[in-house]
Amino acid sequence: MHSGLLTRSFRKTYPVAIRGQGVWIYDADGNRYLDFAGSAAVNFIGHGDQRIGAAVTEQLKQLEFVHSSQFVTPIARQFADEVLAFAGPDFSGGAVFFVTGGSEAVETALKLARQYQVEVGQPQRTNLLSRKQAYHGATFGAMAVSGNRKRKQIYEPLLRQFEQVNTPYCYRCAYGCIDCAGKYATEVEDTLSRKGNDTAAFIFEPVSGATLGAAVPPDRYLQLAALTCRAHGVLVIADEVMSGFGRTGRNFAVEHWSVAPDIITCAKGIASGYAPLGAVIANKKVVDAISGGSGSLVHGFTYNAHPISLAAGQAVLAIIRKQNLVCCVDSSEGETGKAMKTQLQRLLECAAVGDVRGLGLLWGVEFVSDKQAKAPFAPSLQFSARVASAAAKRGVMTYPMQGCIDGELGDHLLLAPPAIITSDEIAWAVDQLSAAVNEIHYEVSHP
Ligand code: PMP
Repeated sequence: MHSGLLTRSFRKTYPVAIRGQGVWIYDADGNRYLDFAGSAAVNFIGHGDQRIGAAVTEQLKQLEFVHSSQFVTPIARQFADEVLAFAGPDFSGGAVFFVTGGSEAVETALKLARQYQVEVGQPQRTNLLSRKQAYHGATFGAMAVSGNRKRKQIYEPLLRQFEQVNTPYCYRCAYGCIDCAGKYATEVEDTLSRKGNDTAAFIFEPVSGATLGAAVPPDRYLQLAALTCRAHGVLVIADEVMSGFGRTGRNFAVEHWSVAPDIITCAKGIASGYAPLGAVIANKKVVDAISGGSGSLVHGFTYNAHPISLAAGQAVLAIIRKQNLVCCVDSSEGETGKAMKTQLQRLLECAAVGDVRGLGLLWGVEFVSDKQAKAPFAPSLQFSARVASAAAKRGVMTYPMQGCIDGELGDHLLLAPPAIITSDEIAWAVDQLSAAVNEIHYEVSHP
């Protein structure tokens, strides 16, 4: 049936989602799906939570919107303080800028970094450093610092080119995992030795998101990279759009390695999908440079600090706290995180699963046609997309991606369920997933 809706693909028929409850999404045909990817690492508290509806309704009754050039609101002030506190002592004296999603958060962070450098008398810092195989968003600035080839390639002629270093990827480590933390950090050092005086900021995903499928960096790498940036006067931006707000078992993933960025970007989990919301958390150094310098941001969107989104975010954070969800998600201490880790390891029994990696409730499963050689499937086989369809037929939603090896080769799934998922639900989802992987593996091996 033709619809006026411009969907992501003209070739795909999408189920019509009409209701969500807990970890389940229901479609108009009466099917239900376990949301094993939290859509795209979005939902953290579960679907259909009426407490969020109540908070949003209350805010709607009071005030739906004012423009941030004319007013502040009580909810914006309160929630900014709560988010700052959630980010921990490194951000005391800092400030939070609210936006409507991850790409806007990244644009804001990059512009904030540039303005900071201008304010502190470093206007020549017109470059940004980022990493290959990263994803930071769909807008032009965010795309320019991204390294996800498929999502970027046709727009490349319209984008500025910046320096990019490798992202640690243990399963296919560029350095054979021999002192790779130091070697990957040396790439940052080498680039900044050449470009350090011209570079405003280094942006990275602490745990890789969709592009590399939850690749976790080796210990010490992020500390070393951050130290190098500091030494060169380069701001450190942790893009925690996917990994933030508890997803990896810490409030923010950088806490696993005791790294204190200057700026954190977040979205997705901050409002768990109940409203479009993102945030940029800046430390005191950045805020002071602007407040004590020109005194105003050269940046803004109409929907900054939208009260309805903030009401959703505030209610979500209250639930994260009350239900102690971040601790539950921790891979070594929390029930949910431990269950996810243990159950997902079972997928390694499938002949087509080469690697299972991740932290907390952010996991990647990489597929190979030959385990010994770590050989990928031909991209034309669309292995991960087919596994995702087979899993959806069995009632499990996942997030399939291609290109983890070099932008073209390599198939994987991203898994990031809501934190209220039970151990039984995880076990059931892994059973379905394992059957889906074996089914597609059989199909491609017997064409
Ligand atoms: N940064 C990261 C790390 C992301 O994972 C994403 C979205 N997948 C974005 C930025 C962009 O966020 P959005 O899609 O909300 O604009």
